[in-house]
This record gives sequence, structure tokens and C-alpha cells, in this order.
Amino acid sequence: MLIYDEPVYRPPSEASSLILQATVGCSHNGCRFCYMYKEKTFRPRPWAELETDIEYAAGQWPGTRRIFLADGDAFVLSTPRLTRILEALRAAFPALQRVTAYATPQNLLTKDTEEMRRLRELGLTILYCGVESGDPDLLRLIGKGATPDEMADGCRRASDAGLKLSITVILGLAGKSGSMSHARLSAELLNRIQPLYLSALTLMLGPHRDRYRSGMGEGFDFSDPADDVRELGELVKCLGTDRCIFRSNHASNYLALKGTLLRDRERLLGEIELALEDPGGRLRPEWFRGL
Ligand code: SF4
Repeated sequence: MLIYDEPVYRPPSEASSLILQATVGCSHNGCRFCYMYKEKTFRPRPWAELETDIEYAAGQWPGTRRIFLADGDAFVLSTPRLTRILEALRAAFPALQRVTAYATPQNLLTKDTEEMRRLRELGLTILYCGVESGDPDLLRLIGKGATPDEMADGCRRASDAGLKLSITVILGLAGKSGSMSHARLSAELLNRIQPLYLSALTLMLGPHRDRYRSGMGEGFDFSDPADDVRELGELVKCLGTDRCIFRSNHASNYLALKGTLLRDRERLLGEIELALEDPGGRLRPEWFRGL
């Protein structure tokens, strides 16, 4: 049996992938809006445990084509450790087509393009990275631990190495008053990164709303669903990403959109405008949202 230190999270697009837990928790674990790994102390999983998992999985599912390395930032592992994992996966799964992982912006800065290229050649294909915003003040307030310039630098290294980037931003992070500048500065950063995949999520805090508000400074006011959709519209309007597969269909969003930017921008803006004409009828109800 595969051993997991739960809870284990994966991107929606990894629903059919084999999940191997290369690390436990998140090495940063400091983002004010994120509670996914708060109960875990970050640690790389010992090689012996991982090797046992790989051997077991290879026996059970020898035709595996996709593997996602959990937890919150498996890309934090050193290049030699990732190399060892990727080589073991290639040996164990002859049909393997892609290996993916979450990476924090900080992780991307710990490896140079040449190291990333070697990992790409060994089968690592996609990195999922939450930049959340391009607003430097907001990034500091939410404890992201990286500036827009650092994020652009790390993402450029990955792209130059041939790794595909799947980037997320979070609507609603800046509340009502910061909404438009969050959207515009995020678009500015994304235009520098030029990701292949881009997803917008919407802030969900559950029982942690008061704690988030208290860290965001005096006068912070949460945005409402229509504000978040207007923010989405401003983001889409300002994006200059070419051949970028854009999604806001994550369950946290009030409005699900899908398209390729820039090609589909006018259609997406039309859908946003329609939704804002009748928010009560066209936006996902609060009870329907989830993570
Ligand atoms: S880097 Fe990602 S997983 Fe880690 S605390 Fe921030 S949002 Fe959560």
C-alpha cells in the first residue's frame, strides 16, 4: 500500500495521476491565506520510504503514464535528490510520459536554468506555481515570501529550461479597495512570465476570515462576488499572454471561464459582462463553492 501523510492536495488537472509524496508539507508554509499544510511540519520523505512506494506502485500500476510529486513544494528538493527520484521513476514505469510538481517562487530561485534543463530531460514536465498577485505590497502583506521581480526571474529560468509553467493567481486577496490594482499588477507580472497555463482561483478562508482581515491593515474590507468577477474582468482585459490556456473553473470561483488567450479574450470579457448584469442568477452560489 502507498503511504500518505494526509491530507494530500493535487492540482485538478492531476486527477488521473499517480501521486507520490516526495515531501511532506510546504517548506514556506507562511502564506496568510493558505491553511493546507498548517498541521504539517515540512520534511523531505526519506529515500527508503519513497523507494518502497515506487516499487509498490510499479507492481500495482506498471502502465502509469503520469505522476504528480506531492506535497506543497516537492521542487524544493535538491537537484541530486530530484534526479534520483526521476531516474527511479523512469526505470520503474516504462510508459511514463510526465512528472509534475508544485513549486514555490522561492524554489525556482534555488536552481539555475541548466539544473532545470537536466530535470526536464529526466522527465519533469510541468511545475505548478502560485504567484497569487503581481502587487508587491499585497505580496508582502500576504507573506508570499517573494517579489514580482523574483517571481519573474524564477519563472524565466524554468521556461528557458523547457519546463511548462502552470501559474495561479487568487481573486479577492486585496479586498475591495485594492482589487483593481491587484488585477492590473498581476496581469503585468503574468505578461512577463508568459505561462502556458493560467488559472484564477478565488479567496476562500472558511473560519479564518478574521485572522486574514487583521493581517491586512486597517480599513481592509473583503470584496463581494461581483467585485471578484469585475477583478477577473480587469485581469483578462490587461493580459497580454499569447497562447495561454486560461481557466477560472476551479470550484472556488464565482464564474467559470475557459479559453485561450489572447484569441478568446473578447468572448471571455463578454461572458463576464453578462454575468455582472445578473450576478444573482449567473454567479455560482456561495454554498456551491469549494476547494
Ligand atoms: S507556498 Fe503554497 S502551499 Fe506553501 S503556504 Fe504558500 S500557498 Fe500554501
